[in-house]
Amino acid sequence: MEAEINDGLFYKSAAELEKLLNSGEISSVELTKKMIDRTKAIDGKLNAFISFDEEKTLDEAKESDARRKVGKKLSPIDGIPVGIKDVISECGQPLTCGSKMLEGYIAPYDATVIGRMRDAGCVLWGRINMDEFAMGSSNENSHYGPVANPWDTTRVPGGSSGGSAAAVASGEAVLALGSDTGGSVRQPAAFCGIVGLKPSYGAVSRYGLVAFASSLDQIGQLGRSSEDVATLFQVISGHDENDSSSYNFEKKDYAAEVRNFQRKKTIGVPKEFFGDGLDSEVKSAVEDAISFYENAGHKIKDVHLEMTEYAMAAYYIIATAEASANLARFDGIRYGYRSNAAQNAVDIYYRTRGEGFGAEVKRRIMLGTFVLSSENFESHYLRAQKVRTLIRRDFMRVFDDVDALITPVTPTTAFKIGEKTSDPLQMYLADIYTVPINLAGFCGLSVPCGFSSGGLPIGMQVIGKPFHEHEILALGNEFERAHEFKNMHPAL
Ligand code: GLN
Repeated sequence: MEAEINDGLFYKSAAELEKLLNSGEISSVELTKKMIDRTKAIDGKLNAFISFDEEKTLDEAKESDARRKVGKKLSPIDGIPVGIKDVISECGQPLTCGSKMLEGYIAPYDATVIGRMRDAGCVLWGRINMDEFAMGSSNENSHYGPVANPWDTTRVPGGSSGGSAAAVASGEAVLALGSDTGGSVRQPAAFCGIVGLKPSYGAVSRYGLVAFASSLDQIGQLGRSSEDVATLFQVISGHDENDSSSYNFEKKDYAAEVRNFQRKKTIGVPKEFFGDGLDSEVKSAVEDAISFYENAGHKIKDVHLEMTEYAMAAYYIIATAEASANLARFDGIRYGYRSNAAQNAVDIYYRTRGEGFGAEVKRRIMLGTFVLSSENFESHYLRAQKVRTLIRRDFMRVFDDVDALITPVTPTTAFKIGEKTSDPLQMYLADIYTVPINLAGFCGLSVPCGFSSGGLPIGMQVIGKPFHEHEILALGNEFERAHEFKNMHPAL
């Protein structure tokens, strides 16, 4: 019996594991220990974890088992190990943001999402690798080294939550948290063949998430199925008075909605997302998925989002402007790293920032400072904000007639490590289909929908109205139930 359970254990969904926990076939301690051992055995190939605290993690699993024994389980994911992107504060644990700048820094408080996961009994499993300060599309910008894609370790897992996606795809974690400013949950989920949700802006508290671009950042969930992602979203979402941008919306029972949602929907297909630059295999996999929905009785409608053409330009002005302001706090005085070579106070700032930040972060800070300077503010920053408003209106107009949109997540499958590092603009284009959703504040889900001839995962993006996560998760679940993609795993 033991062997039978262990065989598939690493690739079971949280929902399946909950049944085994409930029946006593496994304990949370056994499950967590196996994840730890697996990570020790295979993470040398992937580099998905920056650090973990084995004792603390096992203590949490023990507490979960004790609760379950007396019938006091706190949630469906009580006792389930969830990886945490190293940009979210967990009290007493390192918080590096993938940067040398925060080397040695220990988080002094819990992010709201961490507090909610504690209340739900989750096992907070390790600090997960990421692009420095969540800037990147390949996870090659981490001070702690690049992360490899479990399907092909010569390729990137996507970014910036590439560690989170690699950990879930390889069976090192059951679920993971990431953050998504322009695509950083959906794009790595697509590259690694798992499900990733970017919630609506304001649906999940950003308190305790180290800010990159505050008007775009959302904490997202990565898992093996839409149902699992719905359960984690259920636990962490909802209004928080510690985050003034969090919205007081009516929460649903997401996991139940996902399982029971039967209504036939109108699904829009925006032509602008299927043009030049889209790989033909990705295109046909997403088109096949659209046909699946049509055959299942949903209505498919061609729509237009003309303004999305300007999304990348607007994003790289707004995101860098906000980043330059947010990252001003890393001054060598208050957090983490301080240069030893500094001669005086001003020198501390210059040298610490010069030595502590990597090249991509510096590029963003310089660009952001430039667009916010008095000469460029109106011509660049204000104009980008106006474009953002037009993009949002485009989405709102289209959603008058549809319940969801389906698009590709990425123009290509996972590219080679090193392939795009010398050309930042090429790298930025990896998020061309995800960035508009952040600018508009809508929600987006990445769902595995095929494989390339080279055996690399392909994802589709299901986009929903703000605070309609249940609708896109239900569509994701409907597709997963009829396909085998979620049962396919990398050979590691
Ligand atoms: N790749 C995009 C960027 O580098 C998005 C990053 C993100 O979503 N955190 O800005």
